[in-house]
Amino acid sequence: MDSRLPETSREKLEAWLRYYDDLGLGEFFTGRRAMGKRSVKTPAVPLQTAATATPAATSAATAAASSSTIQGAPARILPVVPATSLFEAIDRVEGDTLELVRENLGECTRCRLHKQRNKIVFGAGNPRAELVFVGEGPGHDEDVQGLPFVGRAGKLLTQMIEAMGLEREDVYICNVVKCRPPENRKPEDDEVATCSPYLYRQLDVIAPKAIVCLGGVAAQTLLKTKDPISRFRGTWFDFRNTKLLATYHPAYLLRNPNAKGEVWKDLQKVMSFLGLKPRNPSR
Ligand code: URA
Repeated sequence: MDSRLPETSREKLEAWLRYYDDLGLGEFFTGRRAMGKRSVKTPAVPLQTAATATPAATSAATAAASSSTIQGAPARILPVVPATSLFEAIDRVEGDTLELVRENLGECTRCRLHKQRNKIVFGAGNPRAELVFVGEGPGHDEDVQGLPFVGRAGKLLTQMIEAMGLEREDVYICNVVKCRPPENRKPEDDEVATCSPYLYRQLDVIAPKAIVCLGGVAAQTLLKTKDPISRFRGTWFDFRNTKLLATYHPAYLLRNPNAKGEVWKDLQKVMSFLGLKPRNPSR
């Protein structure tokens, strides 16, 4: 590090280098131990994502794809947008583990959300889960307990999981941002950009068969689209070698119980993909 730099610039630069190092994005000489070599995995087939910032293009692609089903069906090829920023070029970290991701996150102060948080909500559940649910960000109860989806919306999510014939412990549950946004506001784009690399790493480590995004923020973050979730919920996408489907957030269902039927249809698609049988209602 150039010791001629003013102290504040130096600290900022060091913080950024540490951050990139934590994410495994490069080999910087920060005097810290190396995170492991970057391994850029080129997918055998183009990743089919909604990775476009233009809602019209995404909708057209989604519409073109909407006639297919997941098993034995023609692939849905959606536009692939070349990575335009460092954050979109997120690589897999060789030898990564959930413990390492948590360790790298540390007592995070990388974005403004840390200022009012009580506890970081990293994620919980089966580290080898076939199914991962991704929410938006912790609310009050989650912030107090340090666990995802433990409030009212969480109780509904638990019921949804059990209706699918699973227990909460069978799946993994996490969020796009790990700290509670004040007044439960939506996380801002820069907060999502700062925190989501840790989500990518969690998903890469767990490597589930299916990911269910709960609500627009999770879906738009992972699919890199600004399209409203109503336009693509219930549609399967390929996402980093796994399948991803978005459905409405349980908090939305608490406000709009009429949408429960649509969500159940979405979850049934996940069940048939994973070979799950619905729980016997008499249990
Ligand atoms: N809503 C979310 O998106 N995540 C939680 O953990 C709780 C509520």
